[in-house]
Amino acid sequence: MRHALVVATQNVGKLAELRAMLATLPVEVLSSDDVLTRKITVVEDGETFAENATKKAVAIARATMMLTLADDSGLEVDALGGAPGVRSARYASARATDGENNAALLGALAALSDEQAVFRARFRCVLALVDPLASFEPHLVEGACEGRILVSPRGSGGFGYDPLFLVEGHDKTMAELDDAAKNAVSHRGRAFQALRLVLEKALIGRDTVAAQIAG
Ligand code: IMP
Repeated sequence: MRHALVVATQNVGKLAELRAMLATLPVEVLSSDDVLTRKITVVEDGETFAENATKKAVAIARATMMLTLADDSGLEVDALGGAPGVRSARYASARATDGENNAALLGALAALSDEQAVFRARFRCVLALVDPLASFEPHLVEGACEGRILVSPRGSGGFGYDPLFLVEGHDKTMAELDDAAKNAVSHRGRAFQALRLVLEKALIGRDTVAAQIAG
């Protein structure tokens, strides 16, 4: 039996990647925009990815009463003390484009004026799953992907900071990997692997409830 799953995001890049990962499970993937008649704005003012993922998942699960998955993620650059971090989407300004954020990142690194530096960095992702049939307590998992920042972009795949992020152990940026290769190594892909069993259990729970209702 297929069950509806809401992905609580406005980010089309995240939605596409999560859709691909969810394709092997018996779920009908919907975005929050697909199911809500009125847009809900969740203020992402948490200090951690976990706090923000929780806020988004709980808010959308309460509004829809549907199984809900939220992703909070971002880039941490060691030379910048972990910035942009939880502010990755808004690094250049409140409504910044990916291009503006990438330019702001390169500007911040150029200001460090160390031409020899290797800018170690990692992407992090926290996924929060809320099942209103059980409770509004989220199940949280996380994933990370190590790499370093290049001074000029390479590749056209993915989204966000992907063209600037050289993946550790590969001679490619995230934006040079195809979709499946990105999902196999990415922070989001690793978080999803950690979530898969929990999600499968939630779906079995829904099958059981549906069978009971059917008599
Ligand atoms: P959030 O929507 O607050 O979780 O912010 C996510 C931001 O982190 C995105 O807008 C990107 O700037 C960055 N980010 C997260 N995941 C990725 C990724 O897979 N590739 C590139 N950038 C990412």
